[in-house]
Amino acid sequence: MPVYLDYNATAPVLPEAAAAVAAALQVVGNPSSVHGFGRAARRVVEAARADVAALVGVAPEQVVFTGSGTEAAQLALTGVGRTRRLVSALEHAAVRSATPNAELIPATPEGVVDLAALERLLAADPTPTIVSLMLANNETGVIQPVAEAAALAHRYGAVLHTDAVQAVGRIPVDLKTLGADLLSLSAHKLGGPAGAGALVVRGDLALQPLIRGGGQERGRRGGTEATALLAGFGVAARSARLALDHAPQIAYLLKEMEAAALERCPDAAVIARGSLRLPNTSLLAVRGCRAETLVMALDLAGYAVSAGAACSSGSVRSSAVLAAMGVPQDLADGAIRISLGPATTAADVAGFVDAWAAQVARTRRSRSLASTPTSAAASVA
Ligand code: PLP
Repeated sequence: MPVYLDYNATAPVLPEAAAAVAAALQVVGNPSSVHGFGRAARRVVEAARADVAALVGVAPEQVVFTGSGTEAAQLALTGVGRTRRLVSALEHAAVRSATPNAELIPATPEGVVDLAALERLLAADPTPTIVSLMLANNETGVIQPVAEAAALAHRYGAVLHTDAVQAVGRIPVDLKTLGADLLSLSAHKLGGPAGAGALVVRGDLALQPLIRGGGQERGRRGGTEATALLAGFGVAARSARLALDHAPQIAYLLKEMEAAALERCPDAAVIARGSLRLPNTSLLAVRGCRAETLVMALDLAGYAVSAGAACSSGSVRSSAVLAAMGVPQDLADGAIRISLGPATTAADVAGFVDAWAAQVARTRRSRSLASTPTSAAASVA
């Protein structure tokens, strides 16, 4: 059986979430219809909204359902009417592509946003501003100082959006504790179906829709709600609260895996190893190997991991996150992300380390053979 170690790409759909989707597909009505069928569908949507709201400690009316985490982030960045956008250099493409003219907030070599730089940027220009800082990075797992950044933003009259897509369900997330004004999340990272996301909005903040339509989602997102997907999202959100109990076990396996990998290959590095990270995410880098080759070899060996940030075509770009941290290119080129989940076992991570170390050794052997002159060539010389 192949071992799935790519939970940050997407988590397997939980059986209870799949069952909720299947059951809700049988619900006939449009949630906006006033008749009994419509009211039944509305109940499904509103139950899901209450579960998603509870996961991040807000009131249900603060939750705007979207079609993805990407859409939620774009709604946040375009919907609050702030013309200046300050975006951390660590952000996912969901945020960066929504803000092509954004000013970048630099990051430290530890993979954390530079708060002093953020303050300088805020102080330099009084234009109404939105700051976007993710709660946890999808590649390194580093948890960002969102509460501190939100306090700074507010001191300068700015609002703050946090992309919590990777954090929710892995660490406790509470909008009020974070002090964020807007927070994005995505169903498929929590064991819900892909195609559902949410933007959580501070109670009094006005939001212009990105998609206009029939006034759904209190006029904040047009389009008939995807009742079945949202039902799955709600159930996954409820399960995610309970799944936080698995975090210590997952963190233990991750640390074991990292220690074993570094023992087998002492010149490898765990990127941002000393930083506060998600319990499930490790970015393991080694010189002299290409990440995409490692990923393919590991796939053949039965282990599913990612190389850097996978984009939609499945190809691999050089990581902007690692560049922002100043990780040398030759090390970044050999970085693979391993992300664990509640089903991961000690045997899974031990098997992964064996397969990874064997592939690194094989690659290095073939490189050193390739650079050794053959006997024929040597005799010519
Ligand atoms: N933000 C982060 C940090 C992510 O890792 C991802 C997905 O990988 C997204 C946003 C986008 O979420 P979705 O796939 O729901 O559009």
